[in-house]
Amino acid sequence: MKKIALILFLIPTILIHASNISYEISTPEPHTHYYNVKMTVTDYQKDYFDIQMPVWSPGSYLVREFAKSVEGLESKTNNKTIKSEKINKNTWRIHSNKSNNVVINYKVYAFELSVRTSFVDASHAYFNGTSIFMYINELKNTPHDLKIIPFKDWKKISTSLPKVEGKEFQYQAPNYDILVDSPVEIGNQETFDFTASGVIHHVAMYGKGNYDIEKLKVDMSKIVKACTDVFGENPNKEYTFIIHNLTNGSGGLEHLSSTTLQVNRWTYEGSRYKGFLSLVAHEYFHLWNVKRVRPVELGPFDYNSENYTSLLWVMEGFTSYYDELLLYRAGVYSEKEIINKFQGTISRIENQPGNKVQPVAHASFDAWIKAYRPNENSYNTTVSYYPKGAIVANMLDLMIINSTKGKKNLDQVMQYLYSEFYKKQDRGFTSSEMKSALEKVSGLNMDDFFKKYINGTETFDYSTLFGYAGLSVETTVNKDPSLGISESNNKIRRVNRGSSAYVGGLNVNDEILAIDGYRVNGNINDFIDAKKVGDNVKLLISRDNIIQTMTFPLLEKGTTSYFIFNDTDKRNNIHQKWLSQK
Ligand SMILES: [Zn+2]
Repeated sequence: MKKIALILFLIPTILIHASNISYEISTPEPHTHYYNVKMTVTDYQKDYFDIQMPVWSPGSYLVREFAKSVEGLESKTNNKTIKSEKINKNTWRIHSNKSNNVVINYKVYAFELSVRTSFVDASHAYFNGTSIFMYINELKNTPHDLKIIPFKDWKKISTSLPKVEGKEFQYQAPNYDILVDSPVEIGNQETFDFTASGVIHHVAMYGKGNYDIEKLKVDMSKIVKACTDVFGENPNKEYTFIIHNLTNGSGGLEHLSSTTLQVNRWTYEGSRYKGFLSLVAHEYFHLWNVKRVRPVELGPFDYNSENYTSLLWVMEGFTSYYDELLLYRAGVYSEKEIINKFQGTISRIENQPGNKVQPVAHASFDAWIKAYRPNENSYNTTVSYYPKGAIVANMLDLMIINSTKGKKNLDQVMQYLYSEFYKKQDRGFTSSEMKSALEKVSGLNMDDFFKKYINGTETFDYSTLFGYAGLSVETTVNKDPSLGISESNNKIRRVNRGSSAYVGGLNVNDEILAIDGYRVNGNINDFIDAKKVGDNVKLLISRDNIIQTMTFPLLEKGTTSYFIFNDTDKRNNIHQKWLSQK
C-alpha cells in the first residue's frame, strides 16, 4: 500500500488550466485501422483559423506527409456544419465566423507499425501525435487536452503524458510540442515498473517475447545509471518505455520522457540481448542528447517543413558512441568486446567509398534527402552520421583525455552543453558553439579538426590517437580478386565505386547468368575466388531482358581491415580514463 501511495504521489498529475484545444481519440473499429479524432477549439473567436497536420516527426528526418492519411474532415458550430476548405497539402481553413466553440472531426488511417508512425488493429493501438493531432500555429504554446476512449476491453494506456487528476484516461500537455512528443500505447500490454537513479520507469510490453522481467529490471537499471552518470543528473521524475515485440522489429525513437523500441520478439537472450541493451542505452541517452542538449534548429520545431541541422553527427553519432561505451561501463561488455566494436565500426566506414565523398556535417544537413531516401548509389556517395559520428566521438574522447592528461573526457563536453545551453540558457546551440565547447574542455584549437574531419573527408591518424591510450593499430589490405558488387539471386543491387564491376561496366539490376561459360546459381563468389587478380572474367548477363556478354579483368578487393591491440598489460592513465568500469 505504501508503495502504491508513493507512486500515486509522484505521477505527474496536473491541475486543469483553461485550454483552447482539446482532442478526443477513439478507435471504435480497430480492425479497420482508423482513429477517430474530435478536436474542439473553444474561446478562439476568429472569422476563420487554420489547422495543420505536421509533415514530419522529430527524431526522424524525413517529410512523411501525415496529411495523406486524413479523411472525412468536417467542422461544426452549434451542431451545424460550417465551411472548411483545404488550402494546401496539410492545411485546412475553418470558417468559424467568430464562434467560441468549434468541433472538428476527422479520421486518420493508421496501419504502419513503426516507432515514428501510428497503428491500430484488433490487438492494440499505438500512436505518435505528429501523425494524429492537427495544430493551430498561434496556439501551439498553450495547454492541449486529450481524452482517450480505449476500445471495448482494452484496459491500459501507457504514455508519459501528464494525467489529469481524478479523470481516467485524460491528459493535459503544457503545449503542442509535448503532446506530440509523448507516444501512446493502448491495449492490454504487459506492464512493469522499476526505479533507477531516482526516476520511476514504466515499461509497457506489447507482443509476446522471451523476455524475463526481473532480468530486464536489473539490466535496464544499469543502463539508466550509466547514462545518468555522464550528465550528473536525470531531469525526469518518471520515464516510459513502450516496447513492441515483433517478428521483424528494429529501431527506436527518442522523446523527452519516453521512448518507443521495436525489437525482434526473441531478442532477450545471448548476443542479441546485448544489442537490445545497446538500443535501450541509445534511446535513453537521447533524453539528454538531442531532446535537451540540442542543436538550435531542433526545437522549437517547425512541423511544416524540413528542419536542417549540420549537427546530427553529434546528436546521433555521439549517442551511437555512448550506446556501446556505456554498455562497457555498465559491465555488459568486456574490454575486448568494446574494442572489437570500435575497430569494426572503423573498418566498415573506412571501406565505404561515400566516406571519401560526403563530409559528416553534410551527411547531417542532407539527411532529409539522402540518409532517409537512399538509392542504389548511396554507398558510393554518402556516409551515415551514426557510425561516422561515433568514430568522431571516439577520436575526440581520446584527444580530450590526452590533452588534459587524463583529467577530462567527452563526458565533460556533454555536461557543459547540458548545463550551459539547456539549463542556463534553455536553448539549442550552433555548430560554432559546439566547436567552442570542445575547445573549452580540451584546451585545443579545433579549427583544423573541423576542417579536416567534420567539414572534410580526411582519414583520422588512428595509430596516433589510439596510441595515446597505449594501444596499437594494425591494418591489412585484402588483395584477393573481387567483382565489388552486392547481389541477391544473381541480380546486382550495388556496384562499388572503383571496383572491377564498376570499371568493367556492370550495372545495378544486371542479372549475372553465367561466368566463363558456367551457369551461376547463387555461387558467383566460387568463380571469382578461383581466379587471380588481373585474370579476365567473361560474363553472360541479362540487362532489361537483353542477353549480352562482357569481359573485363578482375581487380583486387583492396579493402582495409583495422585491428586495435593492447600491447601491454599495464594501462596508462589515458587508457584508464577512457575505459574503466565503475
Ligand atoms: Zn538515435
